[in-house]
Amino acid sequence: MVQENLHSIQKRIEEACVRAGRKRTEVTLIAVSKTKPLALIEEAAEAGQRDFGENKVQEILEKEPQRPDLSWHMIGHLQRNKVRQVIDKVELIHSVDSLRLAEQIEQEAAKLQREVPVLLEVNVAEEESKFGFRLSELLEAVLSISKLPHVKIQGLMTIAPNVEEAEENRLIFRKLYQVFVDIRSKNIDNVTMSVLSMGMTGDFEIAIEEGSTMIRVGTGIFGTR
Ligand SMILES: *Cc1c(COP(=O)(O)O)cnc(C)c1O
Repeated sequence: MVQENLHSIQKRIEEACVRAGRKRTEVTLIAVSKTKPLALIEEAAEAGQRDFGENKVQEILEKEPQRPDLSWHMIGHLQRNKVRQVIDKVELIHSVDSLRLAEQIEQEAAKLQREVPVLLEVNVAEEESKFGFRLSELLEAVLSISKLPHVKIQGLMTIAPNVEEAEENRLIFRKLYQVFVDIRSKNIDNVTMSVLSMGMTGDFEIAIEEGSTMIRVGTGIFGTR
């Protein structure tokens, strides 16, 4: 089932890229495997899936040692006291949502003499229930975090509101893309702005049409949680 789902998601990604006049290689699919057993991850890996997303440190610590050959992405809220356990296990932390968290990552990364790639999470719709910087405070955050030598800002991430119709999120994605391009154009030292992580099972096609470079799909691949 996982392999069929993956193929169908892949096809929909390709079609969205065609509609948007974008190259398929511009969009990376992260298979969100949270709560799912390793057996299903193995199935996806067998079909060629390399990137997996998890939202809990504990789950990454359980799964990553069994498949260190795969790329693991931290996509959930990260507590500062868990930074040390996870920073050398993941390819990318999508969910840096405060300056204090970035400072903690800096401290631990410096000890390991490593550079840690991160995305800043943005709460575009300013939902009370969500983590992330507000758009109005984002540039200031980028500038502060850019001064941390071991923390490498590679782009932005957002979790769009849970809506009936994916189309309702188009303007959210468009807004974040504009901010992404705007920050990129400032050529800030130690900041790349090459990754825009947006779009999930319900809205990834719209996100791709609006410039996403990483989509995070869970249910569409692994079924309901
Ligand atoms: C669970 C989760 C996803 C995947 O959600 P689906 O709707 O199952 O595709 C994407 N991003 C984050 C941050 C998540 O926590």
